[in-house]
Amino acid sequence: MSDRHISEHFETLAIHAGNTADPLTGAVVPPIYQVSTYKQDGVGGLRNGYEYSRSANPTRAALEENLAALEGGRRGFAFASGLAAEDTLLRTLLSPGDHVVIPNDAYGGTFRLFAKVASRWGVEWSVADTSDPAAVRAAMTPRTKAVWVETPSNPLLGITDIAAVAQVAHAGGAKLVVDNTFATPYLQQPLALGADVVVHSLTKYMGGHSDVVGGALIVADEELGEEIGFHQNSMGGVAGPFDSWLVLRGTKTLAVRMDRHSENATKVADMLSRHPRVSSVLYPGLPEHPGHEVAAKQMRAFGGMISFRVKDGEEAAVSVCDRTQIFTLGESLGGVESLIEHPGRMTHASVAGSLLEVPSDLVRLSVGIENADDLVEDLKQALDK
Ligand SMILES: *Cc1c(COP(=O)(O)O)cnc(C)c1O
Repeated sequence: MSDRHISEHFETLAIHAGNTADPLTGAVVPPIYQVSTYKQDGVGGLRNGYEYSRSANPTRAALEENLAALEGGRRGFAFASGLAAEDTLLRTLLSPGDHVVIPNDAYGGTFRLFAKVASRWGVEWSVADTSDPAAVRAAMTPRTKAVWVETPSNPLLGITDIAAVAQVAHAGGAKLVVDNTFATPYLQQPLALGADVVVHSLTKYMGGHSDVVGGALIVADEELGEEIGFHQNSMGGVAGPFDSWLVLRGTKTLAVRMDRHSENATKVADMLSRHPRVSSVLYPGLPEHPGHEVAAKQMRAFGGMISFRVKDGEEAAVSVCDRTQIFTLGESLGGVESLIEHPGRMTHASVAGSLLEVPSDLVRLSVGIENADDLVEDLKQALDK
């Protein structure tokens, strides 16, 4: 991490934090250090601390510095996927017998990690509606070490008041973890609101171009940073140099992309909320969304993710997904291109039959940065047919 003061402003940090000119050539973009090991100047004589690329790699270090700056944290850590980051975090924070509160509409993979993997090692969990701080308090036990929150959540776009839940978590001696994948640090700064750890799937908006899988953890506290760094190196699920480089390129345009994603989604949500075949639209930017006021307080804009329910049920929802032409049928989200999917049969199939099961008439959109009129027309023709 460098102490170089760059700016207070997100857009400037996004482009300059971690992106110092290459000392050897002046290249303005950090090189892809596609290397596993480093020549030592005599035994133990490491150059700038580089020894072996699982422990540290300059391209990954550039990304990690960039991520820490964007989230207003002190340390950032980049992983091979969002779930690798989550796994590293849960093994850093939790031991057998400990308990974690997870949201009742968590990302399906997060739920699976706790319910099917961590539980085998004696980590206990319960589910709460994290949009209600009292429900979080009620779900906590004396062994609760972490409260896990996603806001906006995937796929129901629920909103959690980060500052309020931070107080509840801390009062019970637990850390607050916020999955900031949907909002990104441009729209929402969880550490400033009291969170202890920010989690990202870098695969989504941070990378932004549907060409890389990655994950991250960012913390404000040095000591917690040391512990995560120890586990990152001990478990080894690190981001490779090329993947790190792609995400570093992605974050440079995050601010302009998120502005456009949010603008386009606002127009799409507006059309959907007036469409006769749509029974409800889940978008925190709509005044009737139950989390609208909290979202307006803690987010700069409302992001590019929308879910909606189709009046005639599951088959009708599936056929809307089959009929769009610009919205591409696919999992994942956060790229420049618009995507559409049916969570019940696709991204969230793994939570079927559980407390986290999603409505079968639900359609999820990742609204891209194409022309907004084209996106609105595409959805209209898919709904009208
Ligand atoms: C995709 C996603 C993850 C998991 O990240 P991967 O990069 O797919 O491992 C975690 N949380 C949210 C909110 C996600 O959308």
